[in-house]
Amino acid sequence: MASGGVAFLDPELDRSCGALLGLAVGDALGAPVEGRARDSYPRLADYVAGGTHDLAAGEWTDDTALAICLAESLLARGGLDERDALERFLRWYRAGENGCGGRTIGISERTRRTLEDFERSRDTDAAVATRNDGNGCIMRLAPIAIFHRTDAATARDAAVRQARLTHTAEPALAATRSLAELLRVVLVGGGRDTVLELARRELGSAFRELPRDAISSAPRARDTLEAALWCVARADDFEAILIEAVNLGGDADTIGAVAGQLAGAIFGASAIPERWRSRLHSAERIAGLATRLHRGAERGGGTGFERS
Ligand code: MG
Ligand code: MG
Repeated sequence: MASGGVAFLDPELDRSCGALLGLAVGDALGAPVEGRARDSYPRLADYVAGGTHDLAAGEWTDDTALAICLAESLLARGGLDERDALERFLRWYRAGENGCGGRTIGISERTRRTLEDFERSRDTDAAVATRNDGNGCIMRLAPIAIFHRTDAATARDAAVRQARLTHTAEPALAATRSLAELLRVVLVGGGRDTVLELARRELGSAFRELPRDAISSAPRARDTLEAALWCVARADDFEAILIEAVNLGGDADTIGAVAGQLAGAIFGASAIPERWRSRLHSAERIAGLATRLHRGAERGGGTGFERS
């Protein structure tokens, strides 16, 4: 199977590419209905044009743009460098760098404020003031999990440090820690059942049994992680999981991006439907970044490399 010009003979590379492509696919599927109430729009099963951000079909928003910024930063710096990552986030906000079509799409009010504070102060702790508990810290996480997949302690540490660039509320940091571990475990070969059992222990809740009405689509990190995992538990292939996710409404693009990271890591890029892979904006670039992050980790990742 090929995706974005990459042949997946290696299942581990397939999963790494799946995590990052899955993030972007979920973002692109949900973007047109971001902010719309659940079941207030016809059930989505494909990219559509227009909607909340007036995008072309297959275009994506801040979730993917910031994941690309983070991926580029990890590759350039050989690991997480807070200042470099924040500078890239700021260039995305101000100049559309790494944005879809060079645009800044979907930035939240609190992230905007944090980046403007950083621009003025150059203080990498600029996010402390906003105590953001939103899901922006988990929507962009896949690059960290891919790069540090062979070292649990470094993966969790880097995941939380990247979260703190914009989100410092403890529930957001806890959700980030959990998603980093879930992604990491699945990227090195744990399957769907392993990840769901680990999620039950990480989240300490019976999210699997909850009815759809009890699943929140608010943009809080903990809610979004739970919503994405609920979709992973409910459906058993990449396509069905993503369709479930983006039809929860509310922060649909970000629920899609988080479900897409998990489902992509579980099933691999080769399991992403062709109609979604081929029409995703910048699919080749995104697959190329995932491949470089994957190989960077093989060469030693950032710090503390250890093959477990
Ligand atoms: Mg978005
Ligand atoms: Mg969103």
